[in-house]
Amino acid sequence: MDALDILTDLENVIPYFQPIFSADEQRVIGYEVLGRYQSEGNIVSLGNFFLDDQIPEEYKYEVDLLLVQKALELVLKLEDDISIFLNRDADLLMYGHGEPFLQELLAFEKRGLNLKRIVLEISEGNYKGDFGQLDHLLQYYRTYGIKIAIASIDSDTNYFERIGQLNPEIIKINLQPLKSNAAAASFTDLLFSLSLLARKVGATLLFENIEMSYQLQFAWKNGGRYYQGYYLHPPAEMFIERDILKERLKGKFHEFITYEKKKLEALYSAAEYFQDKIQDILVRNKKAKYEELISLIVKEMDQIAFRMYVCDEDGFQISSNIFKGESGWYSQQEYIQKNWSWRPYFLENIIKMRNDRKGILSDLYSDIETGETIRTFSIPISGNDYLFIDISYQYLFDNDQLL
Ligand code: CA
Repeated sequence: MDALDILTDLENVIPYFQPIFSADEQRVIGYEVLGRYQSEGNIVSLGNFFLDDQIPEEYKYEVDLLLVQKALELVLKLEDDISIFLNRDADLLMYGHGEPFLQELLAFEKRGLNLKRIVLEISEGNYKGDFGQLDHLLQYYRTYGIKIAIASIDSDTNYFERIGQLNPEIIKINLQPLKSNAAAASFTDLLFSLSLLARKVGATLLFENIEMSYQLQFAWKNGGRYYQGYYLHPPAEMFIERDILKERLKGKFHEFITYEKKKLEALYSAAEYFQDKIQDILVRNKKAKYEELISLIVKEMDQIAFRMYVCDEDGFQISSNIFKGESGWYSQQEYIQKNWSWRPYFLENIIKMRNDRKGILSDLYSDIETGETIRTFSIPISGNDYLFIDISYQYLFDNDQLL
């Protein structure tokens, strides 16, 4: 497909629409507009056309403008609470200082299109221009109600920093990397941070390229409110019935919820189990010193734990570490008086344990020293002191509901 073919045959440039579904309503809440070119009965994506550095900006702008016009013409007949996502790369946005594009949108506004429905999907991949000017333009667009979505983690611009600067209404996450298992683990951790950040800045997460059930589950589990992808619906020439997936999505959510509840129940039971075990030892050995107490617990939890220590409520370690090495348990004196209050959730958990007089099983995390995925069970033991028991990966693995 030659760029010139397209430019001399603009009537065959057409918009395609891919529906975006919401978790809370389980129905279509928006469409992403995608560029297509039809030639001899084939429909081809215009993605490469827009990415081609050899094609002058004004040609790209012309084709894009036509797409936007054709798309919005159809959107005028659509229910007026459905959002329209338009792809904008930064260079295209800055074309003519962003003014011609805005005028085009304002012309549609006069015809009844509320600009609050417009979401600009910004990609900054190759942008070499001035970010100050770009941000200024986006803020200007926003005064018209236009929303900003920031797309994809794969660009080399500083993604987290850009989210902080742009404060987007929507963060779009491409689930393509989730196809390979090797990438999945680190991707999951990255996404977890991203979902926390999104929550802090009040952005909504939209997961795209959902092509399989487990990707939908992943999106649901990681705070995704909006979903898009072939698994739900391919891009099409026309809009679809809004509730087309309602029953299917409800069914899927039911599956996910059941699975997640089972997992949470398992965690709860495991915490209870550890609680009973330790409480029993504590009650029977009220007078024992900590080192003695730990050695009793070690016997009881030899196949479960690999490290134990006691901290006071300010996080100062008041026992040595008891650590399970290749040839059995041994004591690591050098840990006495280290402070752990700086660790995430440390003080929150202390306060929770102090008030509930009960132990807590932590989330999954990587142990800094062993690099293994573990959980920690912590429990108040006496006065202001708390026992921390690191649960081995092997045990979690053998009880896979805990992973
Ligand atoms: Ca897009």
